[in-house]
Amino acid sequence: MRTKISLTQQFRELETTIDVYIKQTESRLIEELRVPLPGFPLYALIASPRHYNPDNVVEEWTLESVSVLFPGTYGHSRPRVNKVARRDDLVALRDYFSALQAAEPDLLIHVGRVEKYGHVQRGVRGKDIDGVKYAWNIDDFTTTIERYRAEYKENYAPREGCVACERCGKQVPADKVVKYKLIYQGRDRYGVRRVMERIGTFCSGECAFNEQCSLEG
Ligand SMILES: [Zn+2]
Repeated sequence: MRTKISLTQQFRELETTIDVYIKQTESRLIEELRVPLPGFPLYALIASPRHYNPDNVVEEWTLESVSVLFPGTYGHSRPRVNKVARRDDLVALRDYFSALQAAEPDLLIHVGRVEKYGHVQRGVRGKDIDGVKYAWNIDDFTTTIERYRAEYKENYAPREGCVACERCGKQVPADKVVKYKLIYQGRDRYGVRRVMERIGTFCSGECAFNEQCSLEG
């Protein structure tokens, strides 16, 4: 005897399969990325080779919640039906599921912290918790911080007889500086748009050129 499963029933079953798939993917990623429980800290490295302040290197955020992302699938919104599913609905839901399965899932880690203007929230991609931008353990940053500090000392720390390039921030000996006339659209003191110019200080013709291009941007 053959039992005919209605389209609506098939639709509901597939919905359950998809919910389970999403939940399992989330659990797997939580384990792989070793995401702790809400309330634990996530550290963000805010120093860079160019802006290195030894007193302000790492920011502490608090883990609030986690959700799973399927990048590239957002053109497909999840099909829903109220009562009765038609063949088209089932096909659409199957397509949606295929898109989820083809995507490379990631976690979106929701974190928060109290700043000057109150409670601030941020979403951090799981793949960015790499010991360079973000880390669960502050010691994971040690190598990166050492490297940034060395690069800062070598290229960016203010030095006697040198000036900073306006574009890249590197220190240049004052007698090797490239002076360049930048031309740009600005506003005068009456708010009228007009062509303006000023002399910029750069390490190289390349930085001068890039600065001019960004002003035309
Ligand atoms: Zn430069």
